[in-house]
Amino acid sequence: MCTDPSDSAKPRRDATQAIHLGRTPFANSGFVNPPVYRGSTVLFPTLEALKTRSQPYTYGRRATPTTTALTDALAELEGGFMTILTGSGLQAVTTALLAFVEAGDSILMVDTVYQPTRKFCDTMLKHLGVTTRYYDPRIGAGIADLIEPNTRLVFTESPGSQTFEMQDIPAIAKVTHEKGIWLLMDNTWASPLYFKPFAHGVDVSIHAATKYIVGHADAMLGVVTGNPRAAPHLDRAKEALGTSPGSEETYLALRGLRTLDVRLARHHQSGVLMAEWLADRPEVHRVMHPALPSDPGHEIWTRDYLGASGLFGFVLNPVSEKALAAFVDNLELFGMGYSWGGYESLILPFDPRSYRTATPWTEKGTALRMHIGLEDVEDLKLDLEKGFARMKDAG
Ligand SMILES: *Cc1c(COP(=O)(O)O)cnc(C)c1O
Repeated sequence: MCTDPSDSAKPRRDATQAIHLGRTPFANSGFVNPPVYRGSTVLFPTLEALKTRSQPYTYGRRATPTTTALTDALAELEGGFMTILTGSGLQAVTTALLAFVEAGDSILMVDTVYQPTRKFCDTMLKHLGVTTRYYDPRIGAGIADLIEPNTRLVFTESPGSQTFEMQDIPAIAKVTHEKGIWLLMDNTWASPLYFKPFAHGVDVSIHAATKYIVGHADAMLGVVTGNPRAAPHLDRAKEALGTSPGSEETYLALRGLRTLDVRLARHHQSGVLMAEWLADRPEVHRVMHPALPSDPGHEIWTRDYLGASGLFGFVLNPVSEKALAAFVDNLELFGMGYSWGGYESLILPFDPRSYRTATPWTEKGTALRMHIGLEDVEDLKLDLEKGFARMKDAG
């Protein structure tokens, strides 16, 4: 709490904001954390109040003090105007897309997008009469050549899912602003701390809060934040679609937010150490991590990002399926499974050949995605080292 007015004029830094935003202890009998409001019905004291809906809360689906604590905090942290919550990260993506398109529209979708986003475009959006055209993540200002009269929006995700190509968001934003179309971004990788989408020209930012914001692999939640122009569209979509996150999940995201800054610092540090270590291993063909100076996206990452999260990829030199299984099957610290952003380390093989359409994937060796958790990185290296030895033995 500021008492000196010269102090209050200074913008607080993110580490402080993540701790203090969305909390009003003395409105809750002094308790540090807000209570979990569970509710559907909200009572109106008078006919007048019912008719004018003049009170802050009117129905559980619309908002509760618990959801407002999180949406206020995230909107401010990301530099946006208004935030809505959804039941999952994927629902954040689909709600955001449905907020802006209508039959006859076309959208430009990055080829390296999270695969279920792609599936939504190729099925539901297609059936609703919206066509999707996929583009190369490294297109930059070249996106201008793909924009047609019915192009309604450009969707970006940087770095790309699984293969970690960086997108030149400011260059794309310049084009979308000139053409008067929307720019959406899935900003999950960086979290609200390491990339500031609205300062770089994005209209709508999307997060799978399931990942770093919740941060403990114990809840599913999505977040969509818009600038003032996008906000009414998001609000309408939220109302029409009835997106309504669970109270417990919302609370877990609020709790996760309080430690996001320190967790990300460790994910960043250990992720880079591991990426460098892997780049020197004879078993590894190449590492895909924008914080490595050798990475094609390094310049953009350095220019636009405030840090790196713990998620990156690498390609093995070709090995047999048996050898690959010997590597991943008996790891002691790395788990194999979907999602990421929790405190634990994960590893997952993937093959983009089966679905990418705008950018060919020509690597011969197996690609793996790795999430570096909060364990000691030396222990993680040892686990992988033993795995590489098993891989060699299995031939
Ligand atoms: C995981 C993920 C999503 C979807 O989030 P869920 O909460 O699992 O539905 C969306 N975008 C990206 C980039 C993701 O990694």
